[in-house]
Amino acid sequence: MASQNLIQRSQGRMTYRAANLGAMQAVEHGFGVVNDPRRPSVLICPEQQHAGNVVIIRDDGIGPFQADALFSYGYASIGVVTADCVPILVASTQVPVVGAIHAGWKGIVSGIVENSLAALVNEGVETDSLRLAIGPCIGRCCYEISQSTLALIEETHGTHWDVATRPWHLLQPTQSANCMRPAAQARNGLIWLDLVSYIRQILRVSGIRDEQVEVVDVCTYCGSEKLGSYRRRQHFELPRAFQYSWISNRLS
Ligand SMILES: [Zn+2]
Repeated sequence: MASQNLIQRSQGRMTYRAANLGAMQAVEHGFGVVNDPRRPSVLICPEQQHAGNVVIIRDDGIGPFQADALFSYGYASIGVVTADCVPILVASTQVPVVGAIHAGWKGIVSGIVENSLAALVNEGVETDSLRLAIGPCIGRCCYEISQSTLALIEETHGTHWDVATRPWHLLQPTQSANCMRPAAQARNGLIWLDLVSYIRQILRVSGIRDEQVEVVDVCTYCGSEKLGSYRRRQHFELPRAFQYSWISNRLS
C-alpha cells in the first residue's frame, strides 16, 4: 500500500511531491496549491472536458488540446488544473514520456484512466515501468454523490470490486489525520465516493501494482485553505480557486 508518508512537502512549503517521481532524475513534478509561485512559467494544460480523450505531444507543441490526459516526450511542463477532481502524474522508467491526467468521476466513467494506460501501451511503454502519483483531491470524507451518479459508476466499473473493496460508503467516512478543517456536512444523506480508491481499483485491474502508485492523502475540501475545492466553494460561496499539478522531462 502506498503511503502518504512518501509524499514530501517542498522546503516546508505547500508544493506536494511524490517520492516515486522525485526519485527519477530525469523528471520534475509538483502538486501545487492555489497561486503557487513555483508553478512553471510555461505550463501546457489541456482544455479539460471531463471525458476520456488522451493526447500525446511528440514535440513541445502548445496546443490547444482538448483532452483530460496529456502525455509528452518533450521538455515543456505539462499539467492539469483541478479543484476536487483527481490530478494524476505519470512517468516511465523505460521511456522519456511523462503525463498528467485529470480524473473526476465523469472522466473516470468515460475511461480516462484505462485510455491513458492503453495509449502508453500503444507507444510500447511497459506498464511495469510506470510510476504514478495521485495528488490532492476531494476525499471520501467530503464527497457526497447522488444515487444516479453511483448508478453510472456501478454500471461502468461495478465488476471491479466486491462489497469489501467498493470505493463508496453509505455512512460518511471519518477524516484522515491530514484534515485541518471541518468535513463537508451531509446534505442529502446519500453516498460517499472515494475517488482515490476508485482509481486504484481501476489501476489494479489494469495491471498496475500498488507499489507503482503513491497517493497524497490530502482532501481539497477539508485539508487546507490553500487548496481550491469546487464543492467547498459551492457550500460557502468562496471565490474560484484551483491548483495546478505539473510534470516534465528534465533537460540534462
Ligand atoms: Zn475532506
